[in-house]
Amino acid sequence: MSVSELARSIIESPTLRLNEEARLLRERGEPVIHLGIGEPKNKTPIAAILSSAAKLSQGDVKYCPTDGTPSLKKAIIRYTEEHYDKVVAPENVIVSAGAKQCLFNLLYCILNPQDEVIILAPYWVSYPEMVKMCYGVPVVVTPEDGSFHPRMADIERAVSSNTKAIIVNSPNNPSGIVYSEEFIAQIIDFCERKKIYVIMDDIYHKLVFDGRRAPAAYQFTTKDLEDSRVLVVNGIAKLYGMTGFRIGWSVAPRKLVETMTNVQAQTTSCGSPVMQAGAEGALLGLQSMVEGLRLQIQNNRDVAMRELSSFNGIKTYKPDGTFYCLPDFRAYSSNSVELARFLLKKALVVTVPGRDFGMEGHLRLSFAGTVKDVTEGIARIKWALDPTSPNDIYIGDKKLIRDWL
Ligand code: PMP
Repeated sequence: MSVSELARSIIESPTLRLNEEARLLRERGEPVIHLGIGEPKNKTPIAAILSSAAKLSQGDVKYCPTDGTPSLKKAIIRYTEEHYDKVVAPENVIVSAGAKQCLFNLLYCILNPQDEVIILAPYWVSYPEMVKMCYGVPVVVTPEDGSFHPRMADIERAVSSNTKAIIVNSPNNPSGIVYSEEFIAQIIDFCERKKIYVIMDDIYHKLVFDGRRAPAAYQFTTKDLEDSRVLVVNGIAKLYGMTGFRIGWSVAPRKLVETMTNVQAQTTSCGSPVMQAGAEGALLGLQSMVEGLRLQIQNNRDVAMRELSSFNGIKTYKPDGTFYCLPDFRAYSSNSVELARFLLKKALVVTVPGRDFGMEGHLRLSFAGTVKDVTEGIARIKWALDPTSPNDIYIGDKKLIRDWL
């Protein structure tokens, strides 16, 4: 069988692979704890269920406009005005199959072969692969001071005449850090001056803790949207825990939206109108569940931090947002892939290797699940690694004895 060189070079999504491994283990009856997964356990908001059910029960599920149903676009425009204080036109909005497709389409529409895209480590696993799929070159910038916060000086050093875009994801998957207002102001000013696109992946923008807010890019540009290089991606997956609806959207200059619509028309035709009705329901329905979800995740974050603090040698940044943290496990192993495999085998806990996020020696732990999952999952990791922890542990109804330390 012949497979293209480019397609062969694209790595498997490690998070989706781990989901599958966990599912298979669970199917065999193994009491796996999944600290790898990036989705909250809430039920779909009732407004979303009713709205998509109403569309479905009409029995009229057909093709719809490629760039999204007019009523969902209207709800997105309202959302953008409410949360970003930015008035945009329907021609500035395109709905796609999740934020993932938005990002891919944006990159596909702005990159020429060999154009460079700056990616800030630690970064979401899909960015480098998406850039490669568009024949671009990912340029990873890692903060030299060992922190998770990018520095303008490092970015400026990485910019070349081939730099076409920078991807900014704050609140950040995998570190949970929210970039400072000063940094967002600097990067927007820099990109507008240099005519470099800045793709704001805002998928977690409302999942922020301790009364903080994620700074919105639009407030730092004086340019009209049509001339601006700021591109914003958002969606319902994380905000409403509606990952399976696969609805995201991009806000961009009209010309770019027009091009993205042509590309989307040739690849997807349109998103499902049933799922778009669901997204509309969520955006227009009662918003108290978003706050409820945020508070629950913040509480889980506190539990995760408390459990990790009792761990010898682990250094961890207390997340400002998202449902991830990225502790430094180098006291136990500098090979995160081997460590994650070891923890799954010995302790039946799924974690994601930091190597996949450009941070070797770290593991990404998700606290999106239940408090019990977080507490028990971290206790199992501690049992497996920390010699000062008790020698035996109950996993399900099995008593396990540690015999490797
Ligand atoms: N961006 C980031 C940073 C993410 O973590 C994810 C999902 N894990 C996405 C985009 C994709 O979101 P969606 O499910 O809407 O495609």
